[in-house]
Amino acid sequence: MHSGTKEPIGMWTHPAVITANNFVHKSLSNWSLNIAVGCAHACRFCYVPSSSTNKQADRLAGFGVEDPDAGWGSYVLLRPWDEKKFLASLEAAERTPRRLLNPDGNRAVMLCTTTDPYQVFKHSDPTRAKELTQQSLNMVHRALELIRDRSTLNVRIMTRSPLARQHFDLFRSFGHRLVFGMSLPTLRNDLARVYEPAAPAPSQRLATLQAASDAGLNVYVAMAPTYPECDEQDLTATLRAIKAVKPITVFHEPINIRADNVARIAIQGKALGVTLRTDVFDSRESWRDYSLSALKTVVRITRELGMGDRLHLWPDKKLGAAWVVESMSKPEQYRSWLEKRWKRISEWPRAAA
Ligand code: SF4
Repeated sequence: MHSGTKEPIGMWTHPAVITANNFVHKSLSNWSLNIAVGCAHACRFCYVPSSSTNKQADRLAGFGVEDPDAGWGSYVLLRPWDEKKFLASLEAAERTPRRLLNPDGNRAVMLCTTTDPYQVFKHSDPTRAKELTQQSLNMVHRALELIRDRSTLNVRIMTRSPLARQHFDLFRSFGHRLVFGMSLPTLRNDLARVYEPAAPAPSQRLATLQAASDAGLNVYVAMAPTYPECDEQDLTATLRAIKAVKPITVFHEPINIRADNVARIAIQGKALGVTLRTDVFDSRESWRDYSLSALKTVVRITRELGMGDRLHLWPDKKLGAAWVVESMSKPEQYRSWLEKRWKRISEWPRAAA
């Protein structure tokens, strides 16, 4: 860090507010509430630094972040809490006419879409680290109370962290208006250490999902993204474990790596002694074959496990590119298969009668 720059773990310049999101074919939410810029979980495949955080490069430079993409995971800047501004954004979302909303968002606010709502702030000063972590938890708690009491909006929680457990009572107070989910691509801790190096281990996430289910929450799981190394045995084991937590929806997508990340992942895999199949990214054809094969395998396994009706696939939009469609033996059939997946609306629990 240069002298005069601030530590990249600290406070951001702009407060946390609800904003419309730009999801395409995801069926996750209509709005996002992001509590921080950056994310301590440092997932190697994360699309956020290249699609969103890179737009903050100038401001991040003031915190000593030279390259927001290469440094992903090393900076986390908590957005300050400004209740007046938050309430204005909540009211604006609440007032949005339903006809203007994509129905696939289920009129939900998602925490979070460009960071994790539950994370540990690893500041070099342990006291400050604790303060920041607690401040972020307080902010999430207050924002949720306001959404619950001052609006009719739904909430989708998405995290990789067991820290969420301390808010289970609050989640339960939303009834059918809140769904709680975690990302669980694999049960293999060695793979998670390569692809999600600073996120809590899959075993911890599974235990948290089970606790959420036992606490009566409406649970969903994002088996996303799965990795080329997730073979049939691993996919089956993961889906069996997911079935046990009684999810309302299981989202799935195979990894879609950005070219510049493949080399970084390969280096990390080698350092940890994990053999990786980065060859699937060698050509667009090998990526297409890998993606389609992973999607089909998950469709088959979920059917065998009796939860095919809850599977929500996220085929990448590039799988609809002309060169992919034309390479199929039955292009019309393939196109309609894709459209059906893209238009599917994910499950939302009903109000108790
Ligand atoms: S937890 Fe989510 S936002 Fe954070 S690095 Fe991983 S994928 Fe990106």
